[in-house]
Formats: sequence, structure tokens, C-alpha cells
Amino acid sequence: MPAPPAHPAAFSFDVEDWYHPELLRDRVSAGDPRTVVLEGTGAILDRLRRHRVQATFFVVGHVAARHPDLLRRIADEGHEIACHGMTHRPLWVLDPESFRSELRAFRAAVHGALGSDPVIGYRAPTFSLDRSTAWALAVLRDEGFAYDSSVFPMRVRLYGVPGAPLGIYRPAPDDPARHDPDGPLVEFPVAVADIAGIRLPVGGGFYLRAFPLALLVAALDGIARRRPFALYLHPWECVSGLPRVRLPATDAFITYHRLDTVGPKLDRLLTRYRSVPMREILEHAGHLAPASAA
Ligand SMILES: [Zn+2]
Repeated sequence: MPAPPAHPAAFSFDVEDWYHPELLRDRVSAGDPRTVVLEGTGAILDRLRRHRVQATFFVVGHVAARHPDLLRRIADEGHEIACHGMTHRPLWVLDPESFRSELRAFRAAVHGALGSDPVIGYRAPTFSLDRSTAWALAVLRDEGFAYDSSVFPMRVRLYGVPGAPLGIYRPAPDDPARHDPDGPLVEFPVAVADIAGIRLPVGGGFYLRAFPLALLVAALDGIARRRPFALYLHPWECVSGLPRVRLPATDAFITYHRLDTVGPKLDRLLTRYRSVPMREILEHAGHLAPASAA
């Protein structure tokens, strides 16, 4: 295998429990006591420590409030803490005021755990930032966020922003598919490869589980020769005893397919690509300077 390309990779982890994903939201009873977030996040942290690298953790506020020790461990080990909402409700069911309340509750939970609030990054649950929810960008800027990583730059079954730039850019306030140098935030979209004009989702989650490692490496090498890229996984994808519920066949496939491949693939990807927290990549490349005056 040739040497890995030069650009770093923003490995990122959406710290939520097994019942948070949209496909399970209405299928798990509120009183279900099972939880895997400590085990899964611990396994990720152990793996990153073995590889001696840092990453970005987009944490759900309810998890931060319930497990302040976990938040402290993430911070103490040098990783970046960022926001994955307070409740994991997608932007589609929020409005600017309820979203603002979520962000403030999240910041209070982080402050309660760490005694400080270093958060400048946000990822929408279920990649729910699209044209219909572009109002969220201005709210994020008002609430002290500097970057977003919610754009999935192609349409897939539940979400996506077709035609959005594949590299780091500034989304227009009314249309996240369009770059606007005066846009309120910088966007670090999830990795999508462009192979002869066809977009291929290779950035994480189900796609990382479903595609063979050789295809992932070929696609990611192609991206990393030109620019940094962002990958994502969840703690519930990194445990051996994920609770199972009855789901429609397609949803079950998306949720449970090839979970056993995540650990070995993550090890190979962490060996091949240099993991750097998203914030550092953006700072290093000068993307976190203030937007030019409108
Ligand atoms: Zn999520």
C-alpha cells in the first residue's frame, strides 16, 4: 500500500446512546434502562489513546449532564468537545427559539462538568442542517459557535444537501449548498468522495460499516491528497452488546449491518490517516478568522 496522503483527518464521534438515532426514536420506551454510551465512548477513548492521537467528540447535552466524569475524561485526554444538541432532536422539529434553548442548556451542562466551556463546534443530530433549517446557522453564530459539521453533501435516505461543496466552506445564510464568503459560520462537511462525477458517502456510520476497507481507503486517499476530511462514528457502533429492537428490514439493516467491522476498520484508518481535532485543522488553515464584514 502506498504511503498515506498528507492532509489530516478529523475523526469525530457523536456521543449519544443507543436509543438516540432517529430510526429508533419512537421504538424504545422512555423508561428503558439500558445504556451503552459509557462503554462505547470508553472503547473509543482507549483506542485513540493506543494510537496516541486526538479527535473531536460531538456530545449530546443529556449525556454530558448525566455523565460529567465522561466529559472530563474526554477533555483530560486532550480531545475536543463539541455540541450534538441537548436532546438529539433534529433541527427539523425545532425552531430558532427552541434551538437556542437547547444550545444554552448544552453549554450549562458542559460548564457543570468542566467548570469551563470550550465549545465552538456543532453537529446537528441526523445531519438535519439543510435548506429548510438554514436558520440554525445564525443562531449558532449568536450563541458563540464558530464552526458547524452538519452538512452531508449528497442526498441519502434520511438527510443530505445535494450539490454542497465537498471541502471546507462558509454556507450562505439561506442555503447551505452555496458558499458565501460572508456566511456566519465555517462548515466542515462529512467526507463524501467524488468519483468521475458520482458522489459516494464514505464519511462514517453505516457507510463505513457497509463498504469494504479497500474501497474506503482508496476513496479517502483520493480526498486526502487534496484536502482534510471528516469521519464520524457513534459509541453504540463500538460495543459488543448493542441492545436490539424490532425494526423494519431497511432500518434494521442500516442500524445493525456489519457492526463487527467497526473496531478493525477504525484501527486501520487511525493507522493510515493522521487524526487531528476539527478545531485544530480549521485554526491551522486560517478558517476560524472572523468572516469579512458584510
Ligand atoms: Zn446523532
